[in-house]
Amino acid sequence: MKVKDKEFSIFIDRAKILERVAALAKEINQDYEGKTPLFVAVLNGSFMFASDLMKGIEISAEISFIKLNSYNRTHSTGKVKELIGLDENIFGRHLIIIEDIVDTGLTIKHMLEELRELGPKSVEIATLLHKKEATKEPLSLRYVGFEIPKKFVIGYGLDYDGHARNLNDIYSLAN
Ligand code: 5GP
Repeated sequence: MKVKDKEFSIFIDRAKILERVAALAKEINQDYEGKTPLFVAVLNGSFMFASDLMKGIEISAEISFIKLNSYNRTHSTGKVKELIGLDENIFGRHLIIIEDIVDTGLTIKHMLEELRELGPKSVEIATLLHKKEATKEPLSLRYVGFEIPKKFVIGYGLDYDGHARNLNDIYSLAN
C-alpha cells in the first residue's frame, strides 16, 4: 500500500492486535485489582491503542492525555519535547503510561523523569510496540503488546508524516 511517497506492507492485522490488547487489559485488571490507576495516554500515536485497551479495563480507573513528540518523519531526532496537558494531581497515584511504540527509549525515559518528580506512588509502562534492538536506555516495560524488529511502522494510530493513523492494521515499510 502506498502512503505518500513510500510503499508499506501489512505487518500485524487488526484481529491479532485486538486479541493482544485484550490480553494486556486482562493482565492490568488482575495486577491493579483494588487500586484505581490513572492511565496517562501519550498523544497522538497511542489514541487507538488507548481506546481499545480501556475498553477491556474493568477495575476502577481514570485516564488522562498528554502530548509530546520527538519524531521527525522516519528518523528519531533524539530531541525530546516537553510534556504538556497533564492537569491531574498525580501525587500518590498509580500511573500506567500508554505509549504507541518504544524505539530508542529516549522519549519514555525523559517522560518518566518528569513524572517521577511529581510524586506518583508507582509508574508502569504499557506500550503496544517495542523495538527492542533499538532501545538504548535501560527501561522496564511492564506491558508490551508486540516486540518488533527495527522497522518503520504505521497504522493503528501511528503516522507517516501525519498520514495513516486511521488504518486498522499495522503496516511496515516495504524494502
Ligand atoms: P523513542 O524516543 O523511543 O526513540 O521514540 C518514540 C516515539 O517515536 C514514538 O512515540 C513514536 O512517536 C515515534 N516512533 C518510533 N518508531 C516509530 C515507527 O516505527 N513509526 C512511527 N510512526 N513512529 C515511530
